[in-house]
Amino acid sequence: MTTLDDLPIRDDLRGKKPYGAPQAHVRVELNVNENTHPVPEAVIDDIVARTREALTSINRYPDREFTQLRESLAAYLGHGLTAANIWAANGSNEVIQQHMQAFGGPGRSVLAFPPTYSMHSIIANGTGTTWITAERDADFRISPETAVAAIKANNPSIVFFCTPNNPTGTPVSVETIAAAYDATDGIVFVDEAYAEFAPDGSGTALSLLEGRPRLMVSRTMSKAFAFAGARVGYLAADPAVVDAIRLVRLPYHLSALTQAAAVGALAHAPEMLAMVDDIKAQRDRLVTELANMGYHPYESAANFVLFGNVANPQDTFDKLLAQGIIIRDIGIANHLRVTAGTEAETSEFLAALSELNGTLA
Ligand SMILES: *Cc1c(COP(=O)(O)O)cnc(C)c1O
Repeated sequence: MTTLDDLPIRDDLRGKKPYGAPQAHVRVELNVNENTHPVPEAVIDDIVARTREALTSINRYPDREFTQLRESLAAYLGHGLTAANIWAANGSNEVIQQHMQAFGGPGRSVLAFPPTYSMHSIIANGTGTTWITAERDADFRISPETAVAAIKANNPSIVFFCTPNNPTGTPVSVETIAAAYDATDGIVFVDEAYAEFAPDGSGTALSLLEGRPRLMVSRTMSKAFAFAGARVGYLAADPAVVDAIRLVRLPYHLSALTQAAAVGALAHAPEMLAMVDDIKAQRDRLVTELANMGYHPYESAANFVLFGNVANPQDTFDKLLAQGIIIRDIGIANHLRVTAGTEAETSEFLAALSELNGTLA
């Protein structure tokens, strides 16, 4: 049988592992930080009407500039942004890949602060960008001094922040991002996939965009918007950055159906985001109850909680899965991560975990 090793694959991809979050379909799915609440029926009906309309001209290529979607996204974000500041793609993963194609690549590097989202290093590998890592402070924080020291030591082409950070839930302050920007001549990329779940009054790097043309902020409709299956992510940046990404994008990369569905979802933003407060309450409940059970949960500004003091994460994962509950072993010793689901799902997870014996380290 032919294996990867038999193929003339790029040397720098040999031995690498693909993204591989287990995708079991079970009763309680709290493993990949989706919004577990379904889209309201009335919104589905409107999206169906809009995609039906798009189908009447599906023999033609879609709007390559997805102007209506960019206008909708700019209006949703606020902060004085216009369509010229916005780019979108099939998930923020594609946005991240496109920016690395334009600003990373062979001979260039990206600096990141693990533990962080596994796709960031996989996209660096795929685009031939050297992956450099630096240490975080206590409790996974990154102070302005820590960020600046890492930038001075490594002189990267791109500095990557994820806030709130996956898998730890930790926010990165606007002060840290501003200090990093001042310390580099390169790009500062901020992945804000979970921004809508942050506590009220939390800062966003969107507030820093004015006058900082090397700063990019990505968001996604996959999490708070309950739209993961539609594959829509986007970034906000200086219009010149958007021009740079036009050099590497594939023409017509966003299908007419995707554009119509996303514009429809954004037209109903308040209904689509109605469950966010509920999810935040379940997240806070997870932190409280996991601590009461003797685990070590970290404060989270996202829709998931990382918790330590787990004796054997693989064993606990397997035992929960046997009961139809899937969470995530993200490969940090003695830790697991769980998504905040509906109240019922969260209750089921907590009850099942508390009944497992010997799972505390
Ligand atoms: C889930 C997630 C994304 C979303 O990716 P999409 O391609 O938009 O679905 C992006 N960044 C982080 C850190 C995530 O956890």
